[in-house]
Parts: sequence; structure tokens; C-alpha cells
Amino acid sequence: MDVVEIYESIQGECVNAGRMTTFVRLAGCNLRCSWCDTKYAYDGTKMSDKTKMSVAQVMDKIREFNNNLVEITGGEPLLQREEVKELCYKLMKENFEVDIETNGSIPFDKGDFGMARMIMDIKCPSSGMQDKMIFANLRRLQSTFVQDCVKFVVNDEKDLEYVKGICERHVCNAKKYISPCWGTDISKIVEWMKQNKHLDLILSIQLHKVIWPVNKRGV
Ligand code: SF4
Repeated sequence: MDVVEIYESIQGECVNAGRMTTFVRLAGCNLRCSWCDTKYAYDGTKMSDKTKMSVAQVMDKIREFNNNLVEITGGEPLLQREEVKELCYKLMKENFEVDIETNGSIPFDKGDFGMARMIMDIKCPSSGMQDKMIFANLRRLQSTFVQDCVKFVVNDEKDLEYVKGICERHVCNAKKYISPCWGTDISKIVEWMKQNKHLDLILSIQLHKVIWPVNKRGV
């Protein structure tokens, strides 16, 4: 696998926010979001730490950290789909709980990843990547065995209107989170949520950026 970093920290967002987690950050991304805060996961000039690791080596590192929860993230982890499938299989065999964070632009079959929770981003207009979203993925998310999540990353009012349109038009069984880009006026988002209670959105603040400096890696 092409790996940028494996580290432990608290989960900063969504349903597992606040839990100790081992993060496996894979290299490469097919998108170029305007506000990306993990360019080092795909930018060749900054990927000095990128290493090739076998699934077995990744497992060894995960065992060292010994956290129940493992998040496979990127970049875009589903670009390494076969290896991610194998890693999920091995993790579940050892009773780890697994979250996969994907950017919403890659079709997936949930069955490929066993009981892993999918945390799927929807990129809004401010990202410049909204045309790349595959909305059919929303129907693939579940709440039966594992509660999947959708995360709308918002930066401005146009993004909020976009979120409203998507929530009203698409059926989705996942929990829906609204995640403000760092520096956004969160109080305005809460005011907007008050006006749009029918959307049943949950505010998700990037806890790791509250605790540590915004650009600090490995936290
Ligand atoms: S999908 Fe994630 S890693 Fe890729 S460009 Fe967007 S924010 Fe950055």
C-alpha cells in the first residue's frame, strides 16, 4: 500500500468524535479541493514520507497502537481498493472497528468492506469539486448494522444552500453531518440549522484543530 502516515490521535469528526483512533492515511487523491488541508497526501513535492507497506506491515503498526477504532483515510483510500478490502478483512478478523473516509467521487460496494463504517464526504461548490460527486453512493450507505455517515464540508452560504438541495432531493439512511471549514463563522451555520431543522443535520467541528495548531500533522 502507498502510505503517507500511520498515527494515533482522537477522532476529530462525526459519529466517533473524541475516541482514540489509529489513522492510516493513504497516498494519492483524484480530487483537488480548493481548501484541502491534507495536500501532503497527494502532492508529490510534499509526499516525502510516502512509503510502500504491505498489508501485513500496516497491520503490525496498527496492533502497536492498540486502539479499538481504526480509520482508513487519505487522500482517497478507495484508489487502493483491493488493498483496503484486504486490510478491512484482516482488521475485522481481529475485532477492530473500522471507519473508511471517502471523498464521494468513487463508486463503492459496501459489501466489499465487511462491517466497516463509510464516512462519505459531499464536496460543496466552494471546493470546486462538486461535479465529481457520485450521488448514487448516498443510496449505498446504511444504518442497519453500522451507522454510516455523510459529511458536508461547508465554507460559505452558497454551500449551505447546496446542502439543503442535496438533502431534499436524495434519499439517504446515513447520519448527516455538517462540517464547517476551519475559520468559518460557526454561529451563522447554527442559525441556518435552526431555519432548516427538517434536514436533521448534526454539527461536526474539527476537534483536532481546536486542540492542536491548525496545520499540525499526525494529530
Ligand atoms: S478529497 Fe480530501 S485529500 Fe483530496 S483534495 Fe479533497 S480534501 Fe484534499
